[in-house]
Amino acid sequence: MNRPHNFSAGPCILPLEVFEKASQAVIDFDGSGLSILEISHRSTAFVEVMEKARSLALEHLNLQAKGYKALFMQGGASMQFLMTAYNLLEKKAGYLDTGTWSANAIKEAERFGEVKVLASSKESNYNFIPKNYSIPNGLDYLHCTSNNTIYGTQMKAFPNTGETPLICDMSSDIFSREIDYSQFDLIYAGAQKNMGPAGATLVVVKEDILGKVSRKIPSMMDYELFIKKESMFNTPPVFSVYVSMLTLEWLSRHGGVSAIEKKNRAKSELIYSEIDRNSLFEGFTAKDDRSMMNATFTLKNERLTPLFDKLWQSANLNGLNGHRSVGGYRASMYNALSIESVEVLVDVMKHFEKTI
Ligand SMILES: *Cc1c(COP(=O)(O)O)cnc(C)c1O
Repeated sequence: MNRPHNFSAGPCILPLEVFEKASQAVIDFDGSGLSILEISHRSTAFVEVMEKARSLALEHLNLQAKGYKALFMQGGASMQFLMTAYNLLEKKAGYLDTGTWSANAIKEAERFGEVKVLASSKESNYNFIPKNYSIPNGLDYLHCTSNNTIYGTQMKAFPNTGETPLICDMSSDIFSREIDYSQFDLIYAGAQKNMGPAGATLVVVKEDILGKVSRKIPSMMDYELFIKKESMFNTPPVFSVYVSMLTLEWLSRHGGVSAIEKKNRAKSELIYSEIDRNSLFEGFTAKDDRSMMNATFTLKNERLTPLFDKLWQSANLNGLNGHRSVGGYRASMYNALSIESVEVLVDVMKHFEKTI
């Protein structure tokens, strides 16, 4: 099988060995003779999967025994836009507007209380991360987006919020780099970018921030209930949780987050140095804010687009088209993408420059 080099932004590449093990488990889960898809989610075998996935998530973030709980929920990161506000917004919350996903989170939160947008890069099509904003007193929380998947910007530092809880949408860069995850009080991430198939959303929450709003929270929206029920209030997305567990085990076998960060750094340095060197291309974002996960770039001469598209497509590359709101190209280089794939892309860019 000749697998394309998959630069898709999400759903996206996962390790091949995870796909192989997952496909096996659809037929025969761990030698039980039964499919992972037909056993009870209350069976010992599946409860073990859920427990393993939850504990590996905390382990990789270095958040074990620090008052955090890991939950697997449904509804994607988009459901978390409203759940965070539902559970935590009493009066006023602060948001950083760094991209479409941030803007969507803001829109949902506005239904629950006052939203203060502390900084925004919308005016320049979100091509940088705003800095130097002040954080007012009396916020219920501050919400940020660590990696802006569509634009290719990534926060390298996070606001120091003191006692104010810090919430972060890490959908597209969770488990990709070593940062102090304990500076966050709630982290969420849709599975389909660095962890597993769409359908599950990881929520890591510090328990002591919960239970403080006065509104009544419906069961399916209630973090405290999901903690109490060990992520099994209702039928969880079993396959998505299982494949997430396999990916987290793969990450452990490959040296964890610190080892994967080195690889991610090497991949992103390779592509960005070519974007800067190659006379035909230019980067879309401010250099200091460049994402290690999603590199966005454009052709200086748009008329070359059909020629370049033909070239990379014939080189067995997949998913390189930029998001419609940015145009150009986006190379998403999630944990499972090998450096060889980035080398192929760089070769294609070099070849294009030579032949044009
Ligand atoms: C993809 C993405 C989302 C949306 O995720 P869904 O699971 O589709 O709701 C939200 N935030 C970021 C940063 C993303 O990359």
